Amino acid sequence: MKTKDYYSTWIEVDLDVIAHNVSLIKDRSGVQVMAVVKANAYGHGSIPAALAALRGGAKWLGVARVEEALQLRAAQINCPILVMGYSSRENLEEAIANGISLTLWNREQLQLVSHFAEDAHFAAKVHLKVDTGMSRLGVAPENALSLAVEISNAHSVTFEGIFTHFARADEVNQSSAEAQELEFMQVLKSLAAAGIKPPLVHAANSAAALFRPASRFDIVRPGIAIYGLHPSDERPLPGEFEGALGWKAVLSQVKTLPPGRGISYGHEYVTRKNERIGTVPVGYADGFRRAAGNQVLVGGKQVPVIGRVCMDQVIIQLDEVPEANPGDEVVLIGSQGDSQITAEQVADLWGTINYEVVCGIAARVPRIYRKSSD
Ligand SMILES: *Cc1c(COP(=O)(O)O)cnc(C)c1O
Repeated sequence: MKTKDYYSTWIEVDLDVIAHNVSLIKDRSGVQVMAVVKANAYGHGSIPAALAALRGGAKWLGVARVEEALQLRAAQINCPILVMGYSSRENLEEAIANGISLTLWNREQLQLVSHFAEDAHFAAKVHLKVDTGMSRLGVAPENALSLAVEISNAHSVTFEGIFTHFARADEVNQSSAEAQELEFMQVLKSLAAAGIKPPLVHAANSAAALFRPASRFDIVRPGIAIYGLHPSDERPLPGEFEGALGWKAVLSQVKTLPPGRGISYGHEYVTRKNERIGTVPVGYADGFRRAAGNQVLVGGKQVPVIGRVCMDQVIIQLDEVPEANPGDEVVLIGSQGDSQITAEQVADLWGTINYEVVCGIAARVPRIYRKSSD
């Protein structure tokens, strides 16, 4: 495995962990799994993560955009794939030709999809998105039935599914999720009364898939949980889930500086005594944010980043690890010895959520894949 002798900074992803997390969700929910691999699989790398999720028992893949679905198809991934978001007119044709399932929420989209599908002599597969309270995408519940009737009658269109998305399933207080679920069930009822039963009904993100049995319907759509990251502080994952990602770098230089030396741009940190200082080739252009208070692990100990984070480098204070040498491994997310820095801790420090931390790891950071079973 090429790592510290080869790269400045890199991510290690354990694909067996992703497969295992998917199988846990499948067992716990008792329904099929659509593994959500949008945004480069939350930074983990879409193709390897998708293959691992399928190995773990996922039957479907969910993405945000047509381009993401086509990337999976180009890698010979032939399972059902749903684009859960917007598809532009220009890429509908290619999506339909590749058997990708599309989300729609209005009549104009339906007409376009039907038109392209007829031309291609291909049935387009569609899922109707209902906005039950996220207030993002979707047809209003009161308009869902008439659109569903049109989908059922449209030429060259297969009405494959209907879904909604929760705004607050990751909270202990489930009243909002419950209200959305009831609204969704009303819609399903009105469709059923009109003889319309889309084969795949779905609603649950990770938090709902794990903690809200009534929301599981035919298939669940977990994202964050398959990577072993907590849906929220209020809804942590059960203990048997594991994080799949580690973010590492290598120590490029170590030196001792006398008191009074300014560190990094702006000299915001000034040495107070003789201090051991290390330089690490990772910076904000890698997605390691230019925030105060960052910490990393070296020699199994947590040490502070001092001075400003640069574009490609940071400087750390090594007084706690006098034995550190150039070439040593530095951990930004993950564990080393008995110490650990989680994506959630980094998120707290940056004033955001773990989702944004992992999605923000830049494309230039190489992803290294391993299987713990190997
Ligand atoms: C991102 C997304 C998911 C997955 O959400 P997690 O909280 O990561 O489990 C499911 N459904 C839709 C529509 C999404 O956009």
